[in-house]
Amino acid sequence: MGSGAAPGVPSIAGGWGACNPNNPKNIRRRAGTYLESAGTKVLIDTSPDIRMQLLDNAICRVDGVLYTHGHADHLHGIDDLRDLNRLSGQPLDIYANKETAEAIQERFPYLVVEKNQVNNPMFRPSMIINTIAEGQDFFIKNLKIMPIALNGHPVHSTGYIFNDGEIVYIADCRAISEEGLAMIQKRPKILVLPLTTLTGQGTHMGLDKLLEYVNIIKPHHTIINHMATECDYDAVNALTPPDVTPAYDNMVIDI
Ligand SMILES: [Zn+2]
Repeated sequence: MGSGAAPGVPSIAGGWGACNPNNPKNIRRRAGTYLESAGTKVLIDTSPDIRMQLLDNAICRVDGVLYTHGHADHLHGIDDLRDLNRLSGQPLDIYANKETAEAIQERFPYLVVEKNQVNNPMFRPSMIINTIAEGQDFFIKNLKIMPIALNGHPVHSTGYIFNDGEIVYIADCRAISEEGLAMIQKRPKILVLPLTTLTGQGTHMGLDKLLEYVNIIKPHHTIINHMATECDYDAVNALTPPDVTPAYDNMVIDI
C-alpha cells in the first residue's frame, strides 16, 4: 500500500529528486503492506499514511498487525487503527520484537490494553501488544509466521517469513541475519526487499546487495520496496532482471 522511504515521494525537502513526476508509480506513501492468506488478514506496519492506505484498499477489519521496527515511518499511524476497534468492538492484536514493543509502550501508552479490555473508541484505540522473538514461530489464525533478525539498522528491525517461506518480507536493514536466511525453507513465491537509495547508506542496503540476496534466496519474484526520491521507477526497473520489480503504491500481487 506504501512503497516509499521515510520522507515519501515527493518529499517536503527534496521534491521529486531523481523521480519522474509524470510517472504516477513514483508517487510513494510510507511503508505499509496488507497480506491476506486463506481468510487471515494482517497489516505490516502502520505509517502516518495508513488512513488513506486503508481507505484506498477498502480494508476495515484485520486479524493482527505485524511491526518491523519502531521508526516513525513504520509506526506512527497507529492511532488511526482506532476505527478498526470501532468497527469490531474488540481490541486488536499487534506483534513486535522486544525493542519495538517497548517503543510502542513508551510513546503510545494510552492505547495499550490487556486481553478482554477495550477502550472507548471515541477517545483512544485498543491494542494488545504481543512481544515476539526472532526464531520462534507463531500463528495468526492459520497463517504461520516466523520473525527473523535483520542487521545494521539503528533500531532493531524484524523480517517475516510466512508459511515456511512462501512469502518473505524484509524491512529496513543493511543485512539479513544468517540465522534468518537459514529459516527460509522453500523457494519463495514472493520476496520483498527494501532499497531506500541505489547506493545504500550506513543504515540501508543498496541495489548491489539487494541483488545479491535475490541470488542467494532465489525467489520466483522479487519486489523492491521502501524507495526514496533517488529511485525513479523506470530507472530501477531498467537496472534489474525481469523477475525483480519495483513496488508502487497499492500494487496488488495475487499468488
Ligand atoms: Zn523505513
